[in-house]
Amino acid sequence: MEKDNVCINCYNQVDKVAKVLKLGQAELDILTIPKRILTFSFPVRLDSGEIRYFTGYRVQFNDARGPTKGGIRFHPEVNLEEIKTLAFLMTLKCAVVNLPYGGAKGGIMIEPKHFSEQELERISRGYIREIYNFIGPRIDIPAPDVNTDSRIMAWMLDEYEKLEGKHAPAVITGKPIALHGSRAREFSTSMGGAYVLQEMAGKFDMKPKKTTVAVQGFGNVGMNIARILDEWGYKVIAVSDSRGGIFNPQGLKIKEVISHKEKTGKLAKFKGAKEISNEALLELKTDVLVPAALEDQITKKNADRIKAKLILEMANRPITPEADEILLDKNIFVMPDILANAGGVVVSYFEWVQNSQNFYWSEKEVLDRLKVYMTNAVNELSTVCTDFRCDMRGSLYINAIKKIMEAERLRGNLK
Ligand code: NAD
Repeated sequence: MEKDNVCINCYNQVDKVAKVLKLGQAELDILTIPKRILTFSFPVRLDSGEIRYFTGYRVQFNDARGPTKGGIRFHPEVNLEEIKTLAFLMTLKCAVVNLPYGGAKGGIMIEPKHFSEQELERISRGYIREIYNFIGPRIDIPAPDVNTDSRIMAWMLDEYEKLEGKHAPAVITGKPIALHGSRAREFSTSMGGAYVLQEMAGKFDMKPKKTTVAVQGFGNVGMNIARILDEWGYKVIAVSDSRGGIFNPQGLKIKEVISHKEKTGKLAKFKGAKEISNEALLELKTDVLVPAALEDQITKKNADRIKAKLILEMANRPITPEADEILLDKNIFVMPDILANAGGVVVSYFEWVQNSQNFYWSEKEVLDRLKVYMTNAVNELSTVCTDFRCDMRGSLYINAIKKIMEAERLRGNLK
């Protein structure tokens, strides 16, 4: 088989699991070579009248379990290898939470801050024209990702529907409510993570009132999970953003922290809390640590100093593989990103279901169903882990890969 399209990062990630599962060459090919890769460049007229060409990608990694699903990111460092890896991870993530989807990812190499609102609209529409023939509610369903939001999804939906000549809201998720978006979508990732933590806390016999939590990152994910856990009675002792953090061992009143940040634009100088650096926050003596900011925050340099009992990875890849080994040796339990932050894609799936039925659910209905998907995935995973005597990340990969291989086998694509 042609090997030019191999995803090198995916290969490295499945290597360990391949040995445990005794995967053959055909299985390895499925897990390392995407089904479809689109690379294109397209022209957009800027406000100045100049015409600029943009590079875009869409990778549909595997669709054995259903139409592919994955976000579109706008970032200057977007590149094909990264998009392939993220599409692979989406394939695994959808399998882990039992969504009837495969995985995809897309992006444009662009610094969105350098463009006006009108230019961003033309760029978003141009991107959709390029992938129009390859997406659809039963083929591939995009969603927001880094630097893309409901406003961009609305333009993309409109462009798709113009080309299609009819309404097709189920082609894209993360849309505004007025254009068939779902209730609870904006805090679904955090709520999903909170449900996972609640399930784990039960297993660890951690009572919310006696459980301390430190959250790194106070954006969409970090702020919402801190707010939810505080509302549920957990003691959120520290939070931080890119400019530093605040700490109170008695617990912070997160609603007040949110208004303080809204008023002053920062966390610093919040009454009744000490200031703390991001590095120190990670090393706090806390029951739960929630990295919810950036990747590579816990590395071989600081892993040895981490004192949390449980780490809930809400950011993508906040722990490096070397640090993972150190934490495993220290008996620190890590709930990996691929499950911890899957709440967003679960509610994206609910949005697609609602669009397909043209029947819309209340916020309570969405959250009740989200809880079922997240807790089922946690419980399924604990069983796999006992079977294979391995860490949670390895367990998740094994669980997802087994489901994908089963679908491929039933389709007759594997022996
Ligand atoms: P965001 O941009 O809204 O927030 C990021 C936060 O991190 C901000 O508060 C920022 O100040 C802070 N930050 C940046 N650098 C920091 C540093 N060095 N130390 C501490 N804080 C720092 O982003 P988000 O949507 O909240 O996403 C956070 C993470 O969660 C990312 O890794 C993202 O890929 C992942 N994620 C998000 C979603 C989602 O639905 N938004 C879904 C899955 C995964």
